[in-house]
Amino acid sequence: MGRTLALVGGGHAHVEVLRQLAEKPISDLDVALFDPSPSVWYSGMVPGVIAGHYEPAEAKVNLWALCQRARVRFFETSVTRIDAQNQRIYTALGEKHFYDMLSLNIGGATRQLPIMEGAFAVPVKPIGGLVDMVEERSQLTVSHARTAVIGGGAAAVEVVLALAHRWSNREGQLSIISDGPLLAGFPASARRAALAACARYRIQVREGQRVVRIEPGRVCLASGDPIVSHVAILATGHAAPELIRTSGLEMARDGTVATNESLQSVNQPNVFAVGDCASVVGGRHPKSGVTSVRQGRVLLSCLDAYARGQPLPKWQSGTEALALISLGDRRAIAARNGIALTGAWAWRWKDAIDRRWIKRYAV
Ligand SMILES: Cc1cc2nc3c(=O)[nH]c(=O)nc-3n(C[C@H](O)[C@H](O)[C@H](O)COP(=O)(O)OP(=O)(O)OC[C@H]3O[C@@H](n4cnc5c(N)ncnc54)[C@H](O)[C@@H]3O)c2cc1C
Repeated sequence: MGRTLALVGGGHAHVEVLRQLAEKPISDLDVALFDPSPSVWYSGMVPGVIAGHYEPAEAKVNLWALCQRARVRFFETSVTRIDAQNQRIYTALGEKHFYDMLSLNIGGATRQLPIMEGAFAVPVKPIGGLVDMVEERSQLTVSHARTAVIGGGAAAVEVVLALAHRWSNREGQLSIISDGPLLAGFPASARRAALAACARYRIQVREGQRVVRIEPGRVCLASGDPIVSHVAILATGHAAPELIRTSGLEMARDGTVATNESLQSVNQPNVFAVGDCASVVGGRHPKSGVTSVRQGRVLLSCLDAYARGQPLPKWQSGTEALALISLGDRRAIAARNGIALTGAWAWRWKDAIDRRWIKRYAV
C-alpha cells in the first residue's frame, strides 16, 4: 500500500514541492496539502501591492490549481493540532488525518505587543489581513487618520514607504517607530537611503523608541511620550506559530521546529519542517522568504529519500542573499556583502526577479 505525505501550509517551499511533483510524480506516495486559503501571498511583491504597483492577484500563487496539476489532494482548512507521537493532524473542519510523513511550511506570526481594547492594530502577518486593511482604507475618499508602523526592519521600512506612496494625495500622517535604528544590520548607505525616502514622503521617524502599549488613538512609548495614531501596523519581528508548542516536536529556542541539515525534525524523523516555522540546529540563516525558497529546492528529495529508506541529502543555505528593499516609488535599495546601492534600476531588478518567481508557479 502507498505511503501518505501530509504537506501542512502552502508556503514558499511547498509550492516548489508541488511544482516538482507535477513534473515528476512519486509512485506509491499519496500527497495532501492543507491550507486555509486556496492561494498564498508572495511576500516579495506585497509592498508593491500596498503601493499600488501590482494588483493583489499578481502577487499570489494559486495553491488549488498547483495541487490539481500535481495530483495532490487539497484540503482548504487550517491544521489546528499536530500529534507527532501518534502521526495525526487535526483540522478546523473537525477532521483527523493519519500520516506516514509530515512536512510543515506554515510560516510565522508577528511578535505581539500589549494592545488595549478598542485600539486598532494590524500585524503584517498574516499578509491577507494587512492588504485587506490597506485596500479598505484606500477606498475612503477622505481620511485624516494617522498611521504608525512599529518596527525598524526591512518589512517595516517597505510597508511605511509603500503606504506613503499609495496615500500621497491624502491628509493624515505616517510614522515609523523603531526601538533601534532603521535597517540595523544593513550597510550605513542603505540606512541613509531609507531615511532620505522617509524624509521625502514626510514620514515621522522615531528611532530608539520602544513601544510598550497600543491604546485607542495612540501608541505609548517607554519614554512616556504618546504618539497620536489611529491605526498601528505591527512589523515587530518573527514569532513561532502556536501550533508547534503542543505538537510534541522538539523546538529551537525561538519556538520553531528544530531540524537537522536534512530539514528533518530532530526527534521525529518522519516530520520535516521548513521556512519561518523551522530552524536548522547550528544554522545561521535568516527567517525569510529566500530561505524558504532555497529549502524548497531540496525538500522533495529529502522526503523521497526518507520514504525509500535512502540517505537524506543535506540542505546548504548558500551565499548571503541579495536584499532588495523597495522605497515606495519605483526605486529600491540593493544590498549584499556590506555594500548597498539605490536606484530605479534596483526596483526594476527586483520586479524582474519577483515576476520570474511568480511565473514559475502560474498554472
Ligand atoms: C511586508 C513583507 C515583505 C517581505 N518581503 C520579503 C522579501 O522581499 N524577501 C524575503 O525573503 N522575505 C520577505 N518577507 C518575509 C517573508 O514574508 C517570510 O519570511 C516568508 O513568507 C516565509 O515563508 P514560508 O514559506 O515560511 O511561509 P509563508 O509564505 O508565510 O506561508 C505559510 C502558509 O501556511 C499557511 N498556514 C499557516 N498556518 C497554517 C495552519 N495552521 N494550517 C495550514 N496552513 C497554515 C498560510 O495560510 C500560508 O499559506 C517579507 C515579509 C513581509 C511581512
